Amino acid sequence: MRILLADPSRIGLKLMTKMLVDGGHEVLPFTDGTAALECLRGDETIDVLLTSFEVPGISGLELCWEARLIANSRHPIYVVAMSSSHDRDRLIEALDSGADDFITKPPVATELFARLRAAERMTRAQRELVRLATIDPLTDLPNRRAFFDRAGEACLRSGSAAPLSVVMFDIDHFKRVNDTWGHDAGDLVLKAVADVVRRRTGSPARLGGEEFAILLDGWDLLDAYHEAERLRVDIQSTPIEIPGGVLEVTVSLGVAEHLGGHTVDQLMKNADVALYAAKTSGRNRVVAAQSTIAGASDSIETSEARTIYLAC
Ligand code: GH3
Ligand code: MG
Ligand code: MG
Repeated sequence: MRILLADPSRIGLKLMTKMLVDGGHEVLPFTDGTAALECLRGDETIDVLLTSFEVPGISGLELCWEARLIANSRHPIYVVAMSSSHDRDRLIEALDSGADDFITKPPVATELFARLRAAERMTRAQRELVRLATIDPLTDLPNRRAFFDRAGEACLRSGSAAPLSVVMFDIDHFKRVNDTWGHDAGDLVLKAVADVVRRRTGSPARLGGEEFAILLDGWDLLDAYHEAERLRVDIQSTPIEIPGGVLEVTVSLGVAEHLGGHTVDQLMKNADVALYAAKTSGRNRVVAAQSTIAGASDSIETSEARTIYLAC
């Protein structure tokens, strides 16, 4: 496992690091709590925080607490607190601060490894729960909930210096595919469309049914519009093999850029309104939900898709 180890003693850190590395673990050692926290926040691959109470910078208890917050909002982190004291109050305080387990210092190798095996079982189970709650089982894309969480965080971060856009799209006349070829063929179409989206840029998701979205962090409306247009062409020109035939499908797409102060719901609403306009104006086209696509007219007019300017 990948373990962030925080302890004020350089010698203690060295000994524990050797013990853990010999046991087949990967260790990120820190003597300073602030630096440890920075690493914990930036590294999504850390499985375990093993921390002393007595780290300088921020205390080990604060570190436990922060790790719990990160673990709740992003990925599971198993927290083991270490203390040289056998004080029961300390143990209670550690557990109340978000620790999953507690070990006395210096740890005995066999006991530490047994606790880490328990940590591995727990984090594996938690990861599976997170996967089940956030991944669409048919397409393996993130689901609606995961998309809104991610887009919501991006909206909060997004400022005028860093644009943020979304593309929302829906397969055209998908019901006909089900009605003509059957539900299983419809599923194959959904998977094929997901595969096309996955190969492209951005963070895609299946919002539900035959509706998908892509988060384009760092993209302004014009660039997002062009990407949506490339995606439209890509999907249209991808033959989809189903038992008894080959299908081609088209999609209608709505694009919106995040506006300062807007929530993720407002951003998605604007994309949805644009998508609706793409549907009602003939399908198989991209509509951008803003009237600020400066300099885009050439490329838009020569493209098969048309843009309808909507105020939002
Ligand atoms: P439009 O161009 O207006 O989007 O028309 P449409 O036929 O694509 O839209 P409509 O909402 O009428 O039909 C969507 C269909 O998608 C109805 C529903 O049964 C089907 N559907 C939703 N989820 C799934 C799924 O997981 N698998 C399959 N095969 N079909 C699904
Ligand atoms: Mg549809
Ligand atoms: Mg639909």
